[in-house]
Amino acid sequence: MIFFLLFSAIFLKPRARTLYSACTVPFGIIDYHGVFSMPHVDKTDRNTLIELSHAYGRDPRWVIAGGGNTSCKTERTLTIKASGTSLGTLGESGLVDLNRDRLQLLFEKTYADDEAQREREALDDLMNARADGQADRRPSVETLMHEVLPQKFVVHTHPTLVNGLTCAANGERVARELFGDDLLWVPVVKPGYILGIEIHNRVAAFRSAHDKAPWLILLANHGLVVAGDTADEIHERQKAVIEAIASRIPVEIGTSPLRDTTADLVVQNSSQARRVADWTTVVQRALQSSELKNPVIAFDTDANFQQFGDSSDPLSEALRLPFTPDHLVYALRTPIIARQTASDHLPTMVKRFRSEHGKLPRVVIVPGLGAFGVSASEAVSKAAAALALDALLIHRYAQSAGGPVFMPDEQIRFIEGWEVERFRLKASEEATK
Ligand SMILES: [Zn+2]
Repeated sequence: MIFFLLFSAIFLKPRARTLYSACTVPFGIIDYHGVFSMPHVDKTDRNTLIELSHAYGRDPRWVIAGGGNTSCKTERTLTIKASGTSLGTLGESGLVDLNRDRLQLLFEKTYADDEAQREREALDDLMNARADGQADRRPSVETLMHEVLPQKFVVHTHPTLVNGLTCAANGERVARELFGDDLLWVPVVKPGYILGIEIHNRVAAFRSAHDKAPWLILLANHGLVVAGDTADEIHERQKAVIEAIASRIPVEIGTSPLRDTTADLVVQNSSQARRVADWTTVVQRALQSSELKNPVIAFDTDANFQQFGDSSDPLSEALRLPFTPDHLVYALRTPIIARQTASDHLPTMVKRFRSEHGKLPRVVIVPGLGAFGVSASEAVSKAAAALALDALLIHRYAQSAGGPVFMPDEQIRFIEGWEVERFRLKASEEATK
């Protein structure tokens, strides 16, 4: 499928750039406003929740790879996106209802000290909080974070621009200047149960200090949480967050060292087009193995990749380690940065990566050309390339707040071994099979 798009884009419709750069995150001036013009709808809360999910889940500036989650609540029930479903296509069958009294148990109970045992016990209690008739659905791993906030709607996303702040050395200080006492900042903690408990304690402390609940949570090396009692309130607050951060982080073309001057290089120059085709074959052969019988390849020609020098380029620092769980789960710890001319080196580089990391790489960047996302499924290949670009942008945005900070090693190792993220990855692979 991707191959077809790639070759038809180059040889049949040379000007239709969007066809083969479908996973490109918008570059340059970012217009966050389109999403806020949704007409006000007077429907049930469930429908509002689904509409909110689509509004943010279909826009890669807010989430990539179907990540993020949303919820709404009544006094007794929390309705949340099921794990393994995608925000952008969320329907009634992707929602799970949970009994809020039973969720409270997770905050009160003392779990095993052993990490794996504790996660299993907490997951069991989370599953047991499901309402009757929901046994086939698995609540989002971030359910506790939603339960803690008193507002009716909660929208959690991973916007590139916001992560420019959450992955920055002075991110917290800048965020406090921008948002004052509306903000709850949460430092990096292990995801899932531990994150839920951490937020529970911090929200309680916030409420007694400020006599109100926070509506804005920034999760270091992770993303954004916005809460509100109506859809309009959510939209206004999301808009306010983006506008405030955009006032501090330059996002316009020309303000960064990465100028968008060569975006159409591939379609304007047939020898470049041939190089893309040649490299596609090289990448496919290097990755094809008993482990990956039919590699599905996504190609992204974004200017940020084209301007990449080689593996000694200072920009490769941006991809040395993952910034957030999304980067780690889909694009793995780091990409392969191929040599521009020597395509015969790629099999050796893949072999070395395989023995160092215990798995095949998911992203191959060819300096001056673009990035290949490679996996067994279209969704994961596209997500991998999109997240490599996301990392380059986060790295650039973070320069405005003291420079970028990667996920700590302890967190990386925890997520690599975490059953919850393997479940999420498997679900997105199966979605495109
Ligand atoms: Zn998240």
